[in-house]
Amino acid sequence: MSNELKNGHVPAPSTNFLRGIIEADLAAGTYAGRTDSQGQALPPMVTRFPPEPNGYLHIGHAKAICLNFGLARDYGGRCHLRFDDTNPEKEDQEFVDTIIDSVKWLGFDWQQDGKPHLYYASNYFDTMYAGAQALIRSGLAYVDEQSADEMRATRGTLTEPGTDSPWRNRTAEESLRLFEEMRDGKHADGSLILRAKIDMASPNMNLRDPAIYRIRHATHHNTGDKWCVYPMYAFAHPIEDALENISHSICTLEFEDQRPFYDWVLARLSDEGLFKKPLPHQYEFARLNLTYIITSKRKLKQLVDEKIVDGWDDPRMPTIVGLRRRGYTPEAIRLMCDRTGASKNNSWIDYSILEGALRDDLDPKAPRAVAVLRPLKLIIDNFPENHSVECSAPVYPPAHPLHDSEHRRFPISKNLWIEQEDFMEVPTKGYFRLFPGNKVRLRYGYVVECTGCDKDANGNVIAVHCNYFEDSKSGTPGSANYKVKGNLHWVSADHALHTEVRLYDRLFTDAHPDAGGKDFKLALNPNSREVIEACLEPTLNAAKPGEIYQFERHGYFVVDHIDAASDKPVFNRAVTLKDSWVAK
Ligand code: ATP
Ligand code: MG
Repeated sequence: MSNELKNGHVPAPSTNFLRGIIEADLAAGTYAGRTDSQGQALPPMVTRFPPEPNGYLHIGHAKAICLNFGLARDYGGRCHLRFDDTNPEKEDQEFVDTIIDSVKWLGFDWQQDGKPHLYYASNYFDTMYAGAQALIRSGLAYVDEQSADEMRATRGTLTEPGTDSPWRNRTAEESLRLFEEMRDGKHADGSLILRAKIDMASPNMNLRDPAIYRIRHATHHNTGDKWCVYPMYAFAHPIEDALENISHSICTLEFEDQRPFYDWVLARLSDEGLFKKPLPHQYEFARLNLTYIITSKRKLKQLVDEKIVDGWDDPRMPTIVGLRRRGYTPEAIRLMCDRTGASKNNSWIDYSILEGALRDDLDPKAPRAVAVLRPLKLIIDNFPENHSVECSAPVYPPAHPLHDSEHRRFPISKNLWIEQEDFMEVPTKGYFRLFPGNKVRLRYGYVVECTGCDKDANGNVIAVHCNYFEDSKSGTPGSANYKVKGNLHWVSADHALHTEVRLYDRLFTDAHPDAGGKDFKLALNPNSREVIEACLEPTLNAAKPGEIYQFERHGYFVVDHIDAASDKPVFNRAVTLKDSWVAK
């Protein structure tokens, strides 16, 4: 995976190879004129997003969601949300709920014609069981008594064929009886297994009599204790697709070798009369690999369990719930997915593509505000005590329709907060901000001239002094008489909202934290979260959870929650205005 997509090299919204396939099918009418089991007309293409409810969705799943729902939207089709819940042990209602929530939040809808197209694979267990019986009856499946180890040992290798199980040629009657006994709970987990009878010498290992049904005495979140046999994923998935009349079953490249078995199951079961043609077809695309994150559910769980992060929705997590708390918008995530397209080749997408999509989404629409993150006192010595003057600034950026009409108002007074980095006692070359003798504009306020600073016993600057020019106020005719290079943001110290701001950064310093079996915990960024008390423009006191602002010169910040004790909003930094990782 050598080719990396970097920020600044954003391809045009992708017309990907899947679109080519779908357009050809639509032109040929491959799936035209179909009806469902109730005789209702079906759309000309149907896709699905099939998560297993065993964890939280992450940015990689967002890719699959955008692709499947996006294609259905663009081609007059529909997309099903299907819980692939055929594995009783790992699945849970909690995950079903969060997945539903995340897909909705991303802006997709599985309702069509007043019908919710939300399905559970576990509701198809009867059909899957009947399908397995049909295969046995036709001599296409058999109950094997070999242990898992024996099966592994007789499977052969890529260069050598496997060997037939001693149970391979038992009669259909005997297999049917044993399969019923498996279902009836007469056998222990792992003691018997149902296998498809295909070809133990097939060059495709997946066709060497793959297991299709296994015994698991476990309670299932949907079917309870009704079943103690469960279908294997590779057998269940094509049946789920066929039952839902899926036309284009889109999955990631790892499943390419499974496609012949997918086709085998559907062809055999349609021969048995279970399914009508045209059958669903599987297509594979390269999964989304983003640098600087990990997406393995097991490793993400480790981050949560070991309290390296504060839970699945920690703003540093690549989960949808985490990205949402971080300040990501559904529009930004969809934009990133569109920009990265879908391809047949694995590659890495640089994390800056995701951040760039967020900036591009927020820049034209986020309300602006002022925040001083590293405060230093600025005293306007010639400004009257106990006096303030109202300043005004547009809420929205210039291109926004409300730019001219919506203004925010905040006072300027004698004592202000500015950023520590906006003063230098001895300026470096090209420094245009405050230093003794220099004039700058206090944005939306007055032009001031720096006169000096106060220091503590250790020589640290603790306050900066200046004088203001009363006729220089922004928005008044006099302001044009002043030409200054520096334009600083500030907050009135007497009026500032002092509140908690979390400065988040990437969780890992290594672009490929777990590549090649590396220990991802060695790549943790020690500065991925810094909690500060910042001085904010007083209007932000009314900010509500979920609202996203651009703090001028700093970046985009979202209200995480309202602190219960202080009743003040707490902010998370979503992303800085500029990419600070480019040179690294
Ligand atoms: P598991 O290891 O538990 O199977 P999973 O990430 O594959 O993890 P699923 O719930 O099976 O989880 O995934 C649902 C769908 O999301 C699948 O169709 C899968 O191909 C797709 N998907 C998962 N990760 C990515 C990714 N990084 N890029 C694109 N699609 C993905
Ligand atoms: Mg999976």
